[in-house]
Amino acid sequence: MNISLLYHAFGLREQRCHSISYESNRIILNIQTREEKLRCSNCNSKHVIRSGYTERCFRCVPIGSKPVLLKTKVQRLYCKECKSHRQEHLHFVTGKRSYSNKFARFVVELSRIGTLKDVSSFLHISWDTVKDIEKRYLKRHYSNPDISKVKCIGIDEFAVAKGHIYKTIVVDLDTGLVIYIGQGKGADSLDKFWEKVSKKGVKIESVATDLSAAFISSVLSNAPNATLVFDHFHVVKLMNDAIDQIRRDVYRQEKDLNKRKVLKGTRWLLLRNGKDIFDANFRTRLDNALKLNEPLAQAYYLKESLKEIWMQVNKQEAETVMDDWIKQAKESKVPRLVKFAATLTAHKFGILAWYDHHISTGKVEGINNKIKTMKRQAYGYRDQEFFDLKILALHDKNYAFAG
Ligand SMILES: [Zn+2]
Repeated sequence: MNISLLYHAFGLREQRCHSISYESNRIILNIQTREEKLRCSNCNSKHVIRSGYTERCFRCVPIGSKPVLLKTKVQRLYCKECKSHRQEHLHFVTGKRSYSNKFARFVVELSRIGTLKDVSSFLHISWDTVKDIEKRYLKRHYSNPDISKVKCIGIDEFAVAKGHIYKTIVVDLDTGLVIYIGQGKGADSLDKFWEKVSKKGVKIESVATDLSAAFISSVLSNAPNATLVFDHFHVVKLMNDAIDQIRRDVYRQEKDLNKRKVLKGTRWLLLRNGKDIFDANFRTRLDNALKLNEPLAQAYYLKESLKEIWMQVNKQEAETVMDDWIKQAKESKVPRLVKFAATLTAHKFGILAWYDHHISTGKVEGINNKIKTMKRQAYGYRDQEFFDLKILALHDKNYAFAG
């Protein structure tokens, strides 16, 4: 076979192919290192004498759908310069692996468009081999993200499995890259991240988180100079949870069956943005439910006005709006609203800090959604290290591939 074809198709620079054989659907290229390329693997000298060999086979990229094997005699060489006996170095494989480097790269390329199972059945190799190849690649390229230029970060947790196993991720809000994955969702899940930040002397300017006490204390003690911003959607979500609870309470307490009927199925109407409900029928249903019950109506109007906090021209005005909102919620005397008002008061500094840094954890949520899709595709990823690496590489679906 032509030497340049050997190089371009199979990545072989120093070999020649002296024959091709076919064995049960596989193509076998019988190759040999060219005489002039034999060198001592210790001192790189050309002055070597052959002293035996072992025969080996390596998987290589397929031709069409047919697997290709490279069969070669691996020479044992005696070096006249350094007087050592060594096996020749094969440039196209790494370590003791049974497949060529080119094959490994091909597996990685395929892994981008198919699942591990797809790739393993397409190439007729084991699932574990595909995973090992991909894992090794991911480790080399993504295990240690560069955080030296990071300024704004978003922190959020996500559930790995239904059994309440969580991971915490940190995202660079400027680039959208995942820069850290911690185990659990407690304050200690971020310890290694802060270690890295201090080791690299990174100056974090702002941090977006939800209202998790663990994250807050972790940020305050490890990045005391950073502006902590509480994510605005998380605050709105807490309010939505409160209104949903109130609706349940009201429904449970209502004995009148007709009134219960009015309340039934209003959940999504209550949670929706009031301005977006155009359908007259839906409007009437919502109005009827609100007329029926005072606490529910109060909660609903407070929910609708909560977003005003983030719609002011400056921080001062926002503070006035927020104080007013808290006052109204307290005066409602609805226990869940009073409780929510207390939560807002406790987190006021970080909610208003949005006016200093317009950041949110929105990008982190986007990544969480991608992780969910990935989990569905790959049966949950039992290998946690592999799973973490996949997350770190998430942004790079189209990583440029050389060779
Ligand atoms: Zn030598």
